[in-house]
Amino acid sequence: MSKLNIVLFGPPGAGKGTQSEFLIKHYKLVHLSTGDLLRAEIKAESELGLQAKDLMDRGELVADAIVIGMIRNKMEAHLDAKGFIFDGFPRTRAQAEALDAMLEVKEEPITAMLALEVPEAELVKRLLDRGATSGRTDDKDEAVIQNRIREYMEKTAPLKEYYSAQGKYKAIDGVGSIEDITQRLMKALG
Ligand code: AMP
Repeated sequence: MSKLNIVLFGPPGAGKGTQSEFLIKHYKLVHLSTGDLLRAEIKAESELGLQAKDLMDRGELVADAIVIGMIRNKMEAHLDAKGFIFDGFPRTRAQAEALDAMLEVKEEPITAMLALEVPEAELVKRLLDRGATSGRTDDKDEAVIQNRIREYMEKTAPLKEYYSAQGKYKAIDGVGSIEDITQRLMKALG
């Protein structure tokens, strides 16, 4: 049976992490969030974590080679997975191309890129709300949030065209209850 490899896409605050939780359980997939992996490195005070921390605190992207290496290691650690949910990755064209190259070797291409669409004012509100409880420093400061959204618009949003050219891009309305949005995602997967 072919594997289900999903890119869960969207700007910061679109609900990727929340929706991943349900999808990984339902489809028995392995969750690969580069943001979570980087935060684990920071917590462990590793060399990589130290390098990434300043960029993350400013809301800028970490180098492609670092996140690509992390994804490669995790995929190799889960060779028997039924599939992966890529959450917060890829964020640049170089990352998308590297991911396709890694999956091509395994003949397990991306099944779909599900893009959660949420208006910008709602994103800022959600992130500031999350900042009050998440302990994430990058959710507390509105200037950092704006920077993350700017990075998304400039470097990440163009990936919609990349996946669209492969016939894999599916836009999902990301406003509504968590359950309603989950239903929309499942429907898009067919
Ligand atoms: P996230 O948890 O996905 O919101 O990511 C938090 C931060 O980690 C981002 O603002 C970036 O600084 C960094 N980051 C996470 N994933 C990536 C990625 N794929 N490429 C570059 N930087 C990333």
